[in-house]
Amino acid sequence: MQETPDAIVIGSGPNGLVGANLLADQGWEVLVLEAQPDPGGAVRSGELTKPGFVHDRFSAFYPLAAASPVIRGLGLEEFGLRWRHAPIALANPTPDGGCAVLSTDVDETAASLDNYAPGDGAAWRALYARWQRVGRYLVDALLTPFPPVVAGGRLAAAVGPREWARFARFALLPVRTMAEEMFAGSGAALLLAGNTLHTDLGPEQTLGGFFGWVLASLGQEHGFPVPEGGAGRLTDALVRRLEARGGRVVCSTAVTSIEVRGRRAVAVRTEHGDEIGVRRAVLADVGAPALYGSLVRREHLPARVLEGMRGFAYDHATVKIDWALDGPVPWSAQPARRAGTVHLGDSLDHLSEVAAQLATGRIPAKPFVLVGQMTTSDPTRSPPGTESVWGYTHVPHRPLGDAGGDLSGKWDERETEGFVARVERELEARAPGFADRVVGRNVLTPPMLEAADANLVGGAVNGGTAQLHQQLIFRPTVGLGRAETPIRGLYLASASAHPGGGVHGACGANAARAALAADGRRRLVAAISR
Ligand SMILES: Cc1cc2nc3c(=O)[nH]c(=O)nc-3n(C[C@H](O)[C@H](O)[C@H](O)COP(=O)(O)OP(=O)(O)OC[C@H]3O[C@@H](n4cnc5c(N)ncnc54)[C@H](O)[C@@H]3O)c2cc1C
Repeated sequence: MQETPDAIVIGSGPNGLVGANLLADQGWEVLVLEAQPDPGGAVRSGELTKPGFVHDRFSAFYPLAAASPVIRGLGLEEFGLRWRHAPIALANPTPDGGCAVLSTDVDETAASLDNYAPGDGAAWRALYARWQRVGRYLVDALLTPFPPVVAGGRLAAAVGPREWARFARFALLPVRTMAEEMFAGSGAALLLAGNTLHTDLGPEQTLGGFFGWVLASLGQEHGFPVPEGGAGRLTDALVRRLEARGGRVVCSTAVTSIEVRGRRAVAVRTEHGDEIGVRRAVLADVGAPALYGSLVRREHLPARVLEGMRGFAYDHATVKIDWALDGPVPWSAQPARRAGTVHLGDSLDHLSEVAAQLATGRIPAKPFVLVGQMTTSDPTRSPPGTESVWGYTHVPHRPLGDAGGDLSGKWDERETEGFVARVERELEARAPGFADRVVGRNVLTPPMLEAADANLVGGAVNGGTAQLHQQLIFRPTVGLGRAETPIRGLYLASASAHPGGGVHGACGANAARAALAADGRRRLVAAISR
């Protein structure tokens, strides 16, 4: 272990590893300390069911990584990363026998939406044309620190002065309103809203349309790519790149506190009792409540930060299921057989019911399930003719009851089995015979998710709610809207920082850049005063 590295990164999730790489690129000695036995945070994979079946333990689809200028700029292909794509990005089979499709071929997307209502295909093309005009500037603006002065200027120019107010209104729309204003049929509404529900926003919430549109447009442009061989190959590439620049990742070493002297982070303590000094910066790829609630002692923090953090809200909890199948999923709707991701939404009203149940603390009666056909996306994931299937669904962070039975949310064996049966009913309804093909199953309940990655508090996947009151300058709380913290040399690098959840690396990159800039200023001041 380096005696006193330039930087310590606490946590080796994608944000931690991206931040570590950017610091190492500038010649810094970087030490990453990871609590778990293996690196990657929520980007890990392994054989969880049967030999030969690779499963993504948490995240699986990476349109945000594919679009992220930071991750693209790392050149991870040189370190073994290879993206694979399913023939189509996303399908949502509906009970009427239809199937809304999101394909990188816009003609295919449009044709599927015209089946729901003639003219919706043209409306989709118009919506996508808006993305083609502004998408790359928008991605840059979203993934840089807030306020995004340069990227925001480019975005404003791309939108155009006469369109700006209209665009701002569009960005704030709830997804139901967006769909109703633009489309006559239910197919497009489901494509947009299903993507919105990757966050904890429901169809009636402000900003939900924007999230749905961004994710659907990324799918339209890039597809929903997966790393060949499993999510862990993305982490492997990040670790290899870091090591090639002299950085180190030490696992099974949780950081228990950050030592602050003279209002500066000077060292960390680990679970093994070591104190490791640091010369320039500490990047914390941990949840904001963990950083301000346990790693930094209260006496080092201003009262306004402690007060603000009391209002911090996590996003919904998650139940994650992997299945090994001895054949493909027997979807009734043919297009779903070619899709990487399959959303099991019946209608916009179904998604609204699920959102209302989650908002009122009830376990959904008819969960909205996000399914990944991993072998369809990447044939290396399981033996020929079989399918490795990934799935998750949201449950309340603090369950108060059950909208569909007698579950309490304590997630013991009986409750877990009961809920898994509920999820599998949704699959069986659209793919009769699914259950007969299951030869292995692995379930992660909210407490199990948190045990496997301390940032997934109560099974929350995005490091905090995506609602507007905890975004941008309000993330993680008022006054802390950037990677900088009240402690000099300490930076929040996780998804609890702007721009939030997803594998895009921007939180880690923002933290690394803030550390480099502050270090540059410090050296300049030191040089001038010598
Ligand atoms: C089930 C699930 C499905 C998801 N699906 C997708 C998807 O398909 N696409 C997508 O883009 N995103 C998805 N996400 C979200 C995405 O994975 C996260 O937003 C992303 O991983 C956040 O990265 P991070 O680096 O901030 O944190 P994490 O990936 O959570 O990593 C944090 C790391 O820090 C470590 N750590 C925490 N505390 C300490 C400590 N005190 N000392 C040392 N180490 C510590 C943890 O062990 C962990 O390794 C999903 C998440 C989950 C859980």
